[in-house]
Amino acid sequence: MAGSETSFVHLRANIENYRQIMDISQKEILTHLNKPIFRLISGAADELKLECFLIGGYVRDFFLRRPSDDIDIVAVGKGIELAELVAKKLGRNTSLTVFKNFGTAQIKHKGYEIEFVGARKESYSFDSRKPIVEDGTLEEDQRRRDFTINAMAFCLNENRYGELLDPFNGMQDIRDLIIRTPLDPDITFSDDPLRMMRAIRFASQLGFDINPDTFDAIGSNRERINIISMERVTDELNKIILSPKPSVGFILLEKTGLLDIILPELTALKGAETKDGVGHKDNFYHTLIVLDNMAKQSDNLWLRWSALLHDIAKPLTKRWDPKLGWTFHNHNFVGEKMIPKIFRRLKLPLNEKMKYIQQMVSLHMRPMQLVEEEVTDSAVRRLLFDAGDDIDDLMTLCEADITSKNPEKVKQFMHNFMIVRRKLKVIEEKDRVRNFQPPVDGNEIMEVFGLPQGREVGLLKSAIKEAILDGVIPNEHDAAYRLMIDKAKEWNLTPLKKD
Ligand code: ATP
Repeated sequence: MAGSETSFVHLRANIENYRQIMDISQKEILTHLNKPIFRLISGAADELKLECFLIGGYVRDFFLRRPSDDIDIVAVGKGIELAELVAKKLGRNTSLTVFKNFGTAQIKHKGYEIEFVGARKESYSFDSRKPIVEDGTLEEDQRRRDFTINAMAFCLNENRYGELLDPFNGMQDIRDLIIRTPLDPDITFSDDPLRMMRAIRFASQLGFDINPDTFDAIGSNRERINIISMERVTDELNKIILSPKPSVGFILLEKTGLLDIILPELTALKGAETKDGVGHKDNFYHTLIVLDNMAKQSDNLWLRWSALLHDIAKPLTKRWDPKLGWTFHNHNFVGEKMIPKIFRRLKLPLNEKMKYIQQMVSLHMRPMQLVEEEVTDSAVRRLLFDAGDDIDDLMTLCEADITSKNPEKVKQFMHNFMIVRRKLKVIEEKDRVRNFQPPVDGNEIMEVFGLPQGREVGLLKSAIKEAILDGVIPNEHDAAYRLMIDKAKEWNLTPLKKD
């Protein structure tokens, strides 16, 4: 397998953003490291006569000019002792948490989260992600890091302040926008298979390409992802979904075979079948375009999940009809029902977030139907009623779903869509059905007719709701009351007292 061309295209787009990296001078490094927090850690380390380094994601992000408040400090020797002295020096507004079993400590101070750890050497056994850990040198610590770009360190001791320690040439990989493991990738990934997800996450988040050997090793170690807890895998999946162009991550997940293990419902969308000269689109790539479209519009993780899952039931509902061609009848409703099982397996929350996605998937074709058919007031009112407060998100999803390759068609859709949006606004202002509260409620119905709770009350309530949604009566109490009396008469119900 070779590195993905798609991510290569993405990579090119990022080169301009990262070009400034090459211009970072030693002076700029020293200016950055002059922050009081680093000077204080430096003083504490020198006092304890410990070699001390700023390492990992913070250093990477410094070169990428991505601001970060997560600071990782490695001390050669006792990381916890250093953390305790730093916390003492920081004084008030500082919290120190020590994890004795792991030999780590965390300080929270003025928005910073600072992790302290002693430099360590790790060795793994085949069936576990838990390594045997021993004290080690800085370089041994750097060897256990996942990627060369995450293994760089700045020395914080006064006599070598700001010296970059980069034994695996992470700087060059940053320049070339490459994700690469410091050691043989087969060992790095087999030791801790979560790193496979992290590689793809960083590629998607940073617009980097994965080095071909590293990429191939993900393919051959993919089954080992099963020893990782689902929560951790899903955490990385969420970061891929939240990245600027999530299709980069999903294409890599698909090509390495990881997607088939963690989300086979998505790979099932692949393929475009043709019969009697009639084809349908490849729903996997269509879904990824919708997700990328959505990523340009919204950072809402759950709305992005809705984009990812909107057509999830297409393989299950696909039929060939000699008259209609390919059909996917009710794929929205079947998709809605598939979501709890997927969420349970991925250990995603089974709460209102999941219900929101179910609602989005279930309704995702409705705005488009309005565009395609005549936009009647009552159809708009019904959509507002069904979507409630999620109407704006639903419209965003539906717009992202327009992926036709024909620019004329897209233009026409977008134009009609604007009409629907305008109409939604006008009708919402007029009729307020977005979070519909019946103007005559069940209690009033029971009181007027002396009825107990039951079928008749339900029927009257729904007659009022339907009349409002159809525009037969306005959304007002008196009109609803009159309609209720008329309806009741048809069913031989009489009010207890005459008006
Ligand atoms: P982000 O904050 O975006 O997740 P990060 O690189 O800072 O990125 P962390 O999970 O905070 O990620 O990890 C900090 C550092 O610890 C990494 O830069 C890397 O050096 C190391 N690291 C984290 N996870 C692993 C892992 N599974 N295997 C090896 N090294 C790791």
